Amino acid sequence: MQINEELIRSVVSQVVQEVRGGVVPPSGVVSPATDRNTASSRSSTGSGRFGQFDCADQAVAAARKAFEQLRTRPLEDRKKAIDHIRRISISQAVELGTMEMNETKIGRLEHKIEKLKTLGQRSPGTEFLSTQAYSGDRGLAVIEHAPFGVIGAITPVTHSLPTITGNAVSMIAGGNTLVVNPHPSGRLVAAEGVRRFNEAIYDDIGIDNLICVIREPTLETASAIFGHRDVALICVTGGPAVGRAALNSGKRAIVAGPGNPPVVVDETADLDRAARCILQGAAYDNNLLCIAEKEVFVVESVFDAMLAAMDRAGAVRLNRSQIDRLTDAAFHEVGQDRHLAPTKELLGQDANKLARAAGVTIESNRELLFGETAETHPFVSVEQMMPFVPFVRCRDIDHGIELAQHYEHGFRHTSIIHSRNVRNMTKMARAMDTTLFVKNGPCMAGLGLGGEGYLSFSIAGPTGEGVTTPLTFTRERRCSLIEDLWILGDPTSN
Ligand code: NAD
Repeated sequence: MQINEELIRSVVSQVVQEVRGGVVPPSGVVSPATDRNTASSRSSTGSGRFGQFDCADQAVAAARKAFEQLRTRPLEDRKKAIDHIRRISISQAVELGTMEMNETKIGRLEHKIEKLKTLGQRSPGTEFLSTQAYSGDRGLAVIEHAPFGVIGAITPVTHSLPTITGNAVSMIAGGNTLVVNPHPSGRLVAAEGVRRFNEAIYDDIGIDNLICVIREPTLETASAIFGHRDVALICVTGGPAVGRAALNSGKRAIVAGPGNPPVVVDETADLDRAARCILQGAAYDNNLLCIAEKEVFVVESVFDAMLAAMDRAGAVRLNRSQIDRLTDAAFHEVGQDRHLAPTKELLGQDANKLARAAGVTIESNRELLFGETAETHPFVSVEQMMPFVPFVRCRDIDHGIELAQHYEHGFRHTSIIHSRNVRNMTKMARAMDTTLFVKNGPCMAGLGLGGEGYLSFSIAGPTGEGVTTPLTFTRERRCSLIEDLWILGDPTSN
């Protein structure tokens, strides 16, 4: 595990605060110590309170009851609820991020913490629920955004609590409540985060169970949620299997599915900038992000120069035999069709561990490995989620785009280009047709981290909603008033 100085300072400062107790937090921020005092007095939270459930039926019933209460409340109460989620996500990011790291054992601690903090700062809220109006001779029609009711959410192991946090903010802002079936390997931090969110919300607005979580999630509990008559909408974030299951559920489903984001680098690119961006994006949380740079296609004329730029940026180059050794350790065959998938031993692990598997010793602060491979290499075709990036030579921009399109597998998720040629950017954007298309930045710039826009950890490519917001989780309702409230003329005077 790599720990930086800023992280150590942050952990030490939190511990000091907690030891001192009663430290006055900055305005608007409740200290973790204060929150935990409340939490510890309720540490024996049983099933049925603060969102903790062992049975899908009971969870849906509680979420339904919470929805009925929320729908009688002013918009201000939704704002209060999501403000608590955001606040806890920021003020307890170190503790919750550490919990997530210890439980899932994938990714990097500083990024687990950063993801929670950033969600607290950049997740979109009730301001997204803008009303549209049409007025004219025949009166006034107003279109408002109404909640669905109870939403069933399935979340991945790669960002267990962050996905729940982002989903909860958007769904509650839209007036809904939710029942979450988390990935079994991230269930403890999911339940703990949900408990803390619900406690704070209940203490403030008196409604419990806006967010319900299944404490021992299984495929059976997922399917019970999918099939429950009181679940109005499903939102799944994960790989191909859960996407298929959601689409077969007979309910409307929002599917945030898998990706395998390609990067194309052409001869006009600023190669050092491209290298820094690829390092930043591909190494983030050890390449667990679904939007992360997974394979790079570089035009022949700058291929060697691009690899040299990666060296300068601080990535570690592997030779062919080292890549072969790493590949043996990184993939195994799964399923009836015996397709390749990343091994548990290396998925989301540090570059150091991957280097050891490749037979190389590297400095502990190195974050990313890379090397040249053929286009048919498993590191190119499989969504590998580990900090090794394969670089493939291509003849020219057209060949690069063609390969990028092929190895993105039609997910239409995320693609990236480094270029100063607007024609090439346009050509690739049109060909890829991905939900996120990033030009001259690291992948996360497409989610508002270093680029413009807002953040969500559920990017719905297959079903087309894009980066999800509160509006994603609402139904349009139209209210029409005939002949009145059109104030710019009087059609009855003729
Ligand atoms: P996963 O597909 O193994 O699991 C995701 C969730 O689906 C888990 O909760 C799992 O228990 C559940 N699940 C799996 N099969 C199911 C089925 N048949 N019925 C019901 N539930 C089922 O994925 P993971 O390893 O947890 O996460 C990584 C994957 O998620 C990658 O493919 C990544 O690209 C994708 N992802 C996508 C986004 C996005 O916004 N599009 C965000 C994060 C992760």
